[in-house]
Amino acid sequence: MFTSYDDVTSKIPEKPQWWDEHGVPRYIVFTPRHAANIYADEVALLSIACFGCLTEYRVSITNRDFPVEVRGNLPVAGAIRDGSIDYCDPPNSGCCGVGPSTGCYNLRVLEYWSRQVPHREWTRDATLEIELPENAEYRNQFAP
Ligand SMILES: [Zn+2]
Repeated sequence: MFTSYDDVTSKIPEKPQWWDEHGVPRYIVFTPRHAANIYADEVALLSIACFGCLTEYRVSITNRDFPVEVRGNLPVAGAIRDGSIDYCDPPNSGCCGVGPSTGCYNLRVLEYWSRQVPHREWTRDATLEIELPENAEYRNQFAP
Protein backbone atom coordinates (compact mmCIF):
# COMPACT_ATOMS: atom_id res chain seq x y z
CA MET A 1 0.00 0.00 0.00
CA PHE A 2 1.38 3.36 -1.02
CA THR A 3 0.95 6.60 0.84
CA SER A 4 -1.18 9.37 -0.60
CA TYR A 5 0.51 12.27 -2.35
CA ASP A 6 -2.62 14.42 -2.32
CA ASP A 7 -0.55 17.24 -0.83
CA VAL A 8 1.20 17.30 -4.23
CA THR A 9 -1.64 16.33 -6.56
CA SER A 10 -4.04 18.83 -4.98
CA LYS A 11 -1.69 21.69 -5.84
CA ILE A 12 -1.12 20.72 -9.48
CA PRO A 13 -4.12 21.14 -11.78
CA GLU A 14 -3.08 18.53 -14.34
CA LYS A 15 -3.22 14.77 -13.76
CA PRO A 16 0.04 12.88 -13.30
CA GLN A 17 1.39 11.44 -16.56
CA TRP A 18 2.57 8.32 -14.73
CA TRP A 19 3.46 7.07 -11.23
CA ASP A 20 6.86 5.74 -10.22
CA GLU A 21 7.66 2.45 -8.50
CA HIS A 22 6.87 4.00 -5.11
CA GLY A 23 3.49 5.33 -6.20
CA VAL A 24 4.77 8.89 -6.53
CA PRO A 25 2.94 11.02 -9.13
CA ARG A 26 5.12 12.24 -12.01
CA TYR A 27 4.31 15.16 -14.27
CA ILE A 28 6.96 14.67 -16.92
CA VAL A 29 7.18 12.48 -20.01
CA PHE A 30 8.36 9.04 -18.88
CA THR A 31 11.95 8.05 -19.53
CA PRO A 32 13.91 5.35 -17.70
CA ARG A 33 16.10 8.11 -16.23
CA HIS A 34 13.09 9.24 -14.20
CA ALA A 35 12.73 5.97 -12.28
CA ALA A 36 12.85 6.54 -8.53
CA ASN A 37 15.84 4.23 -8.10
CA ILE A 38 18.83 5.72 -9.93
CA TYR A 39 20.64 2.36 -9.71
CA ALA A 40 17.99 0.56 -11.74
CA ASP A 41 19.25 -1.35 -14.79
CA GLU A 42 15.79 -2.23 -16.07
CA VAL A 43 12.71 -0.04 -16.12
CA ALA A 44 9.31 -0.83 -17.56
CA LEU A 45 6.32 1.45 -17.92
CA LEU A 46 3.14 -0.55 -17.40
CA SER A 47 -0.53 0.09 -17.92
CA ILE A 48 -2.51 -1.17 -14.92
CA ALA A 49 -6.07 -0.84 -13.59
CA CYS A 50 -7.28 -0.60 -10.00
CA PHE A 51 -9.15 -3.73 -8.86
CA GLY A 52 -11.69 -1.58 -7.02
CA CYS A 53 -12.78 0.98 -9.63
CA LEU A 54 -10.89 0.06 -12.83
CA THR A 55 -9.14 3.42 -13.03
CA GLU A 56 -6.20 2.93 -15.34
CA TYR A 57 -2.71 4.15 -14.48
CA ARG A 58 0.69 4.24 -16.13
CA VAL A 59 3.30 3.07 -13.61
CA SER A 60 6.99 2.20 -13.61
CA ILE A 61 8.68 -0.89 -12.19
CA THR A 62 12.41 -1.66 -12.04
CA ASN A 63 14.74 -4.54 -11.34
CA ARG A 64 15.28 -2.94 -7.93
CA ASP A 65 11.74 -3.99 -7.03
CA PHE A 66 12.86 -7.64 -7.17
CA PRO A 67 14.85 -9.59 -4.54
CA VAL A 68 18.54 -8.68 -4.48
CA GLU A 69 19.66 -12.15 -5.59
CA VAL A 70 17.87 -11.84 -8.97
CA ARG A 71 18.32 -8.13 -9.71
CA GLY A 72 21.25 -8.74 -12.04
CA ASN A 73 19.39 -11.31 -14.13
CA LEU A 74 16.97 -8.95 -15.90
CA PRO A 75 14.05 -9.97 -13.68
CA VAL A 76 11.69 -7.42 -15.23
CA ALA A 77 12.20 -8.96 -18.67
CA GLY A 78 11.75 -12.44 -17.20
CA ALA A 79 8.54 -11.47 -15.41
CA ILE A 80 7.17 -9.89 -18.59
CA ARG A 81 7.96 -13.03 -20.58
CA ASP A 82 6.36 -15.40 -18.06
CA GLY A 83 3.40 -13.10 -17.41
CA SER A 84 4.09 -12.68 -13.70
CA ILE A 85 5.00 -8.99 -13.64
CA ASP A 86 2.84 -7.29 -11.00
CA TYR A 87 2.80 -3.69 -9.80
CA CYS A 88 0.68 -4.97 -6.84
CA ASP A 89 -1.17 -2.07 -5.16
CA PRO A 90 -2.29 0.77 -7.44
CA PRO A 91 -1.13 4.31 -6.69
CA ASN A 92 -2.96 5.92 -3.78
CA SER A 93 -4.68 8.59 -5.86
CA GLY A 94 -8.02 8.51 -4.06
CA CYS A 95 -9.59 6.72 -7.04
CA CYS A 96 -11.88 4.68 -4.76
CA GLY A 97 -12.29 3.61 -1.16
CA VAL A 98 -10.46 0.31 -1.47
CA GLY A 99 -7.94 1.47 -4.09
CA PRO A 100 -4.93 1.96 -1.84
CA SER A 101 -5.18 -1.50 -0.29
CA THR A 102 -6.42 -3.54 -3.22
CA GLY A 103 -4.45 -5.01 -6.11
CA CYS A 104 -4.37 -4.18 -9.78
CA TYR A 105 -4.83 -5.69 -13.20
CA ASN A 106 -1.51 -5.64 -15.02
CA LEU A 107 -2.62 -4.82 -18.55
CA ARG A 108 0.23 -3.98 -20.88
CA VAL A 109 3.92 -3.16 -21.05
CA LEU A 110 4.07 0.26 -22.68
CA GLU A 111 7.86 0.64 -22.60
CA TYR A 112 10.74 -1.62 -21.62
CA TRP A 113 14.30 -0.31 -21.15
CA SER A 114 17.54 -1.86 -19.90
CA ARG A 115 21.18 -0.87 -19.66
CA GLN A 116 24.15 -3.15 -19.51
CA VAL A 117 27.82 -2.77 -18.75
CA PRO A 118 30.17 -1.46 -20.04
CA HIS A 119 28.35 1.52 -21.61
CA ARG A 120 25.19 1.53 -19.51
CA GLU A 121 23.22 3.36 -22.16
CA TRP A 122 19.47 2.89 -21.90
CA THR A 123 18.22 0.67 -24.73
CA ARG A 124 14.57 0.14 -25.52
CA ASP A 125 13.33 -3.35 -26.42
CA ALA A 126 9.97 -3.20 -28.14
CA THR A 127 9.72 -7.00 -28.27
CA LEU A 128 8.86 -6.87 -24.56
CA GLU A 129 6.18 -4.20 -25.00
CA ILE A 130 3.28 -6.61 -25.01
CA GLU A 131 -0.21 -7.19 -23.70
CA LEU A 132 -0.09 -9.02 -20.36
CA PRO A 133 -2.22 -12.10 -19.54
CA GLU A 134 -4.56 -10.17 -17.19
CA ASN A 135 -5.51 -7.79 -20.00
CA ALA A 136 -7.76 -10.38 -21.66
CA GLU A 137 -9.47 -11.15 -18.33
CA TYR A 138 -9.91 -7.44 -17.67
CA ARG A 139 -11.32 -6.68 -21.13
CA ASN A 140 -13.65 -9.71 -21.06
CA GLN A 141 -15.12 -8.74 -17.70
CA PHE A 142 -15.31 -4.98 -17.96
CA ALA A 143 -15.19 -3.80 -21.55
CA PRO A 144 -18.37 -2.03 -22.70
ZN1 LIG B 1 -9.65 2.55 -7.51
